[in-house]
Amino acid sequence: MNNDQSNALFSAFPDSAVRMPVLFVGHGSPTNAIEDNEFSRSWTEMAKSLPKPKAILCVSAHWETLGTQVTAVESPRTIHDFWGFATELYQLRYPAPGSPSLAALVQQTVPGVAIQLDQDWGLDHGTWSVLHRMYPDADVPVVQLSLDRSQGAHYHYQLGKELAPLRDKGILIVGSGNMVHNLGRIVWQDTAFDWAAQFDAQLKELILSGDHVALVHYQTLGHAAHLSIPTNEHYLPLLYVLALQAQGEQIRFFTDKVTLGSISMRSLLIG
Ligand code: ZN
Repeated sequence: MNNDQSNALFSAFPDSAVRMPVLFVGHGSPTNAIEDNEFSRSWTEMAKSLPKPKAILCVSAHWETLGTQVTAVESPRTIHDFWGFATELYQLRYPAPGSPSLAALVQQTVPGVAIQLDQDWGLDHGTWSVLHRMYPDADVPVVQLSLDRSQGAHYHYQLGKELAPLRDKGILIVGSGNMVHNLGRIVWQDTAFDWAAQFDAQLKELILSGDHVALVHYQTLGHAAHLSIPTNEHYLPLLYVLALQAQGEQIRFFTDKVTLGSISMRSLLIG
């Protein structure tokens, strides 16, 4: 990138007087995109309480790659990456624009990681099922950052830290996953297994006490942790978000409920 390109990037995203908050959203079932329920209503209300972002960078549980990638398309497609749901869900399109300039800014903000520009992925349901409720007009550009499946939890936490300057440029960083997520144990009822409720409560305490070391080393947290995080793609977006918590910033939880037996919908706002 030459100096002219670099200057153009910074004029596209000038520093703002307002530091944007950071969000982790427990997205749960794709049906939350079309159902009026306690979760979808809460996402809508949350968005109304935030400063309108200039663009959104979303780390979704549903985009795993080798190497870290960022979407750089002008018009991302809506990806229906789930099976067996209502036709209405497959017909839903979330036509938010992309932002190749934000993708380039992400690359520039993290010079220590060779983040690849992606021209193929669009918006998966981890992103659009939530944003459809938060910004139904689809008028905020959206870029996704992938999860490098070859890396451990510490890499994801560190990469999250390096994204911090974007908060001062009007960018809303969203992690979309679920803190407790075990599809193998799921039951289609509004209930919570003891181990899921117990681990969700343990995570709440660790988050409130700022014990990020324990949260990064979640595999040392015992049997409930193993049941709650059998694979870590739904947990890792939380680490990106927590890494962005600045000194003294408060955390507010919302939709703090375990449902379907083994899915925690616990979400949080920082800043
Ligand atoms: Zn999911």
